[in-house]
Amino acid sequence: MSDRRPTPRSSPRLRADPASQTPFDQGAAERERAPGGIAHEVGELHRLLVESVQDYAIFALDPDGYILSWNAGAERFKGYAAEEIVGKHFSIFYPKAKVESGWPEHELKEAARVGRFEDEGWRIRKDGSRFWANVVITALRDSSGQLLGFAKVTRDLTERRAAEEALRLSEERFRLLVTSVKYYAIFMLDPGGHVATWNEGAERAKGYKAEEIIGKHFSIFYPPEKVAVRFPDFELAEAARVGHFEDEGWRIRKDGSRFWANVVITALRDGDGKLVGFGKVTRDLTERRAAETRAIANARHAAAEEAARHAADVARARTEQLQLLTSALASVHTIPEIVRIVFKEAFPLMGVDAGSLGVIDDAGTNVRLLAETGFDTPPERFRTMPLAADLPMTTTITSAGPVVCRSRSERDRRFPTTAEVLASFEVSVVLPLMSRGRPMGALAMHRRAGERPDEPLTDETLAFMQSFAQQCGQALERARLYESERQARRVAEDARARAEEARTRAEEANRAKSEFLAAMSHELRTPLNAIGGYAQLMELGIGGVVSDEQRDQLSRIRRSQQHLLGIINDILNFSRIDAGQLTYNPGSVPLREVVDSVRHMVEPQAIAKGLVLEAPECPSELHAWADRAKLEQIVLNLLSNAVKFTAPGGRVSIACDAAEDGQVRLTVRDTGSGIPEDQLERIFEPFVQVGRSLTVSQEGTGLGLAISRDLARAMNGDIRVQSTVDVGSTFTLTLPRDEESAKGD
Ligand code: ADP
Repeated sequence: MSDRRPTPRSSPRLRADPASQTPFDQGAAERERAPGGIAHEVGELHRLLVESVQDYAIFALDPDGYILSWNAGAERFKGYAAEEIVGKHFSIFYPKAKVESGWPEHELKEAARVGRFEDEGWRIRKDGSRFWANVVITALRDSSGQLLGFAKVTRDLTERRAAEEALRLSEERFRLLVTSVKYYAIFMLDPGGHVATWNEGAERAKGYKAEEIIGKHFSIFYPPEKVAVRFPDFELAEAARVGHFEDEGWRIRKDGSRFWANVVITALRDGDGKLVGFGKVTRDLTERRAAETRAIANARHAAAEEAARHAADVARARTEQLQLLTSALASVHTIPEIVRIVFKEAFPLMGVDAGSLGVIDDAGTNVRLLAETGFDTPPERFRTMPLAADLPMTTTITSAGPVVCRSRSERDRRFPTTAEVLASFEVSVVLPLMSRGRPMGALAMHRRAGERPDEPLTDETLAFMQSFAQQCGQALERARLYESERQARRVAEDARARAEEARTRAEEANRAKSEFLAAMSHELRTPLNAIGGYAQLMELGIGGVVSDEQRDQLSRIRRSQQHLLGIINDILNFSRIDAGQLTYNPGSVPLREVVDSVRHMVEPQAIAKGLVLEAPECPSELHAWADRAKLEQIVLNLLSNAVKFTAPGGRVSIACDAAEDGQVRLTVRDTGSGIPEDQLERIFEPFVQVGRSLTVSQEGTGLGLAISRDLARAMNGDIRVQSTVDVGSTFTLTLPRDEESAKGD
């Protein structure tokens, strides 16, 4: 198809003047065309109007589609000037594909058939660019119905189309967006609250398909209790009133299960402000809520675990601290050392700012402060507190239980007298210091502030304090014991030293005495022996004749000399024993022989005194293991005493027998004066004589029994006495038995 015909083939009855044709009333135009007539003027006006219309391309086509006229709008839209385009075929305006499909011809055919054809579509400008056009083609016929051509009115809808397209696209995008949103139920309600639209998220959240739910009232999503109070209606009313409404709460799924939802309802209004419905966005927070609940539970759990771990750590640390303190306390022995550990080591660990240590005094009536620390002003008034006073320390001691004040007001109420001295402390704990189950003192601890506002004193701190006070009580008890033991030892040591000194002095004195006695006896014996010797010589009459009277006198001298010699020998013996100078020659001694020899020595005296001396023969098997001379000396002493202290007519006896424990026994009995009970032990002391006084002189030295017992004991034997005054005495000598002799028999 060519754009332009070689010659214009305009219809003879239709001039190439679009204004001459009114598209609206062709018949009238024909009639009124005469120049100068009203019709002509109207036609002319039409032509001007059409030509000047800018917003529409208005032009005429001949019946074959060739352009006959052109106007300003057409030029503006399509870019062609009238002289360029008139005579061209109108298909020039169509995209190639449309032309090839015969669309322009189809348009004309349709317009010819039904009178009018309207179309929207892309058209091409002179410069090749496209524009969106609304085209109306109207068939133009004469009064006989003959097709004269076509009027074509084209509107450039590019801008409108772009806006519409943008709107359509955004609506489409929005629709896609809304429908595909999975995690939000987004739907519309009509003003009455009926579901108008539905999306995938709504289906997911609520379980209804679009066809099931659209048209239903949205209260179907609410739990019955909410519906009962008309909450859904309230939501809509509120949304309508203020624009939107937000809520969180339980909603119901199609299957009846509940889910926790966040709901935003927005009122939708048209341009005039008329309510057209509501947008409703519902978010299922069940998961989030569950996750939150889980997170909270986890956090709680973690916090509990952490707290437990912390508590365990604290407890372990406390135990270690207590062990350290306990071993520190165990290693000290004095009260000042204990005080130092309590104040300097324990108090900081327990968060104690001030405190004091008091003990009951020896009288048990007062509590005395041993030491205090941390007080702004020293608690002078409370250095000594009567146990009966109503004070924290005395209360804890008399009750043997703790006094715990967790606040100042509590403490001041219970113990008003301490309010002033403890004014700067908030928490006070006073614990008894126990020793062997009884309070011996108290430990007072004060804190300036509580550990925590809600818990001024934690249970475990209190427990720690109590354990520590227990250790402290034991340490104090040990310190006291240690102190008194040291004092006792000091006293004992002093006494021992004094005794030692006395003994040394006594030993020295004794030795001096023994030495003196030995020396004196020796010196006395020499002249005594001379006296005895010369008296004997005179008796023998060697120096001349001795008269009977002289002989009698010489005999008296000799007896006195013998007596004196005996005394001196005793003294010498005793002093030797005392000085440990005596030597013993032990051996097997037959008792029979000892008794025989001694009996003969005392017999003359007994006879002279008129006494009966009984000495039955001793069993031959009785041998003592002893120094024979010393044994005879002992027996002689016992028999001599018996004779000496028994009045004439009395009876003296000596007997032997075997004693238990491998000993032999010699018993000397008399019916003499006897010895008072209280003197029984004293007679064995040197120089003791019963009933001796300065006026009543008595024969003897009082050394005999002392010497005899010393000798017996030195030979592993002993002497004992039984006596009754005016009845008589029994002296018993025991000595080890010679076992060989015993077997031999
Ligand atoms: P002495 O005989 O030299 O006075 P002893 O030591 O032998 O010293 O005796 C001490 C005292 O014990 C005697 O003086 C006497 O008072 C008392 N005594 C000793 N043997 C007897 C006895 N058999 N009967 C009564 N009194 C005795």
